[in-house]
Order: sequence, then structure tokens, then C-alpha cells
Amino acid sequence: MSVIVTGASGQLGRLVIEELLAKVPASEVTALVRDPGKVTDFAARGVAVAVADYNSPESLDGLLRAGDRVLLISGNEFHRDRAAQHKAVLGAAAKAGAALFAYTSAPGLQGGPVTDDHRATEDAILASGIPYSLLRNSLYHEMATMNIPAALQHGALVRAAGNGRLASASRADYAAAAAAVLSGDGHEDTVYELSGDTAWSFAEFAAEVSKQSGRHVPYHAVTGEEYAAMLSGTGLPDPLPHLMAGIDASIAAGELARTTGDLSRLAGRPTTPLADAIAAALAA
Ligand code: NAP
Repeated sequence: MSVIVTGASGQLGRLVIEELLAKVPASEVTALVRDPGKVTDFAARGVAVAVADYNSPESLDGLLRAGDRVLLISGNEFHRDRAAQHKAVLGAAAKAGAALFAYTSAPGLQGGPVTDDHRATEDAILASGIPYSLLRNSLYHEMATMNIPAALQHGALVRAAGNGRLASASRADYAAAAAAVLSGDGHEDTVYELSGDTAWSFAEFAAEVSKQSGRHVPYHAVTGEEYAAMLSGTGLPDPLPHLMAGIDASIAAGELARTTGDLSRLAGRPTTPLADAIAAALAA
């Protein structure tokens, strides 16, 4: 078996490699990165390292082989044409004759600007005829727990998610599911709606943060415009404030509340409870 993981230097990619190393020999795993200096620890453990940049299709020439199982982790350069970046990797995999092309996408019910690149990538995957697995990841717990320091500092948790519920899970949960798909059999031409086992609201999240921290941190719901302006004010570069407000609008609309059980089934265990993620963030 030969498993290639792009974005292997990132937070999700590193966890996927770790999960894979528990399942298959390191000699069967390749970390595809643009900066090999970030994965010297994996190389020392026997993981092959391939260097390519999504922005340079030619950098992918000859890296992939027939029969490879490829995980494309969606890029994080939101100011660029991510769909074009993803199509470069897809094109290389299709040309090589990859046996499986897995892609970290967005939930099928989710709308908003952040999903445009995902839908365009999914369309290209389906049109290519390559055996695929769409890993439609819901939000990471970490996208909520990253707000805890500011919430404690300001005495309120500010989001634009209204009373919407969110079935998030930890990055480690999504990584376990991806590794199961990459190393297992029978995942060709599948679509998985990956989400946490339990949906929660930001009011509940704030109550749990208050309970665990011993500080009163109420949830303060603002409009999408107010939230985007607040994020811009903290120095978050465009288009991220707009994209983040769009994600909160999706939460408010219930687009990220679905609990399908796909994630815990693939991972072979329940998803990480939100309270555990909050505890980990408070301890960090
Ligand atoms: P991350 O830590 O930012 O990692 C992104 C990875 O993509 C890094 O390895 C990065 O390489 C690589 N990458 C970016 N542009 C590239 C390019 N042009 N060529 C080659 N590699 C490139 O993100 P993450 O937390 O692991 O999440 C993975 C992806 O999920 C993100 O990129 C984003 O698309 C999406 N996401 C999902 C959620 C969610 O809640 N579901 C939240 C945020 C993001 P470098 O290390 O060299 O930068």
C-alpha cells in the first residue's frame, strides 16, 4: 500500500500521519509538503517526504504513482484560488492512476462563501472519474475553543451564530476517520458527512467554559456584520472575517447541526466531547 497525505505539515495532516503510523508501516506513508523542514520528525521515523506546492502543478510531476491512495487536505490560502490549487493535485493523481482520492470537504448542507472552493473541488473530482471519498468535515472543536482566551479576557464569548447548534468534533477525530478511509477497504466512491456525535449551542459552550474556568463568561450574540468588523479590528486579514461570519451564519441556520454518526463509525470510537476540548484548551 502507498498512502500520500498532502498538507502533512499542518495541524490535521500531522494527526492523520500519526493515525496512519498506528495502522500501516511508515515505509508505506508519504508526507507531501511544501516545506520538508516542517516534517523532519516524520522523516526520522521512516515516512517518505515529497515536496510540492499546490500553486505549481509542475511541482507535482512524477510524485504520484498508479495505485496510490491520496488524501488531499484542502489548502489554507483563502486569498488564492483554492479550487485551482486542489485541481492541480487532482490532475496529478488522475494522471498517475491513483486508486483512491480522498478530499477534506465541507458538510453537504453548509452554504456560505467558504464552501465555494469545496463544491468546485468536489465537482472536479466527480467529473474526473477517479475513485473518490469525500470527507465532508464539519467544524473542528478547535474553531470554538480558540475563542476562549479572548472570552476570558473580555468577559464574554462573542460570535454571530445566534442560537444555532453545531456538531463539531476534534481535529484528532477527523484525522482518525481519514486514516481509516485511507488504510481500509471499500471506501471507493463514498461521501461521508463527518460531524460530532452531539450538537451544542454557543450558550452551552459559554456555560461550560464558565463552569470549568470558574469565571462568568456569557455568550454575546452579534450580527454577522458586527462579527466580521470585530475580527477585522483584531487584524485578521481579508477574506477571513467575511468567511468566518459566513460560517457563523451557517451555524445560526442549523446547517452544521447534523449528527450523522459517520465520524464515530469510521473512527471506531465516540467523538471527543466538547467539554474535553474545553478542558484541553484551558490547560494549554
Ligand atoms: P493548517 O494547519 O493551516 O494546515 C494547512 C496545510 O495545508 C499545511 O500543511 C500547509 O502547508 C498546506 N498548504 C497550504 N497551502 C499549500 C500549498 N499552496 N501547497 C502545499 N501545501 C499547502 O490547517 P488544518 O487545521 O490542518 O486544516 C486543514 C484544512 O481544513 C485547512 O487548510 C482548511 O482548508 C480546512 N479548515 C477546516 C476547518 C474546520 O473547522 N473544518 C477549520 C479551518 C480550516 P504549510 O505548513 O507549508 O503552510
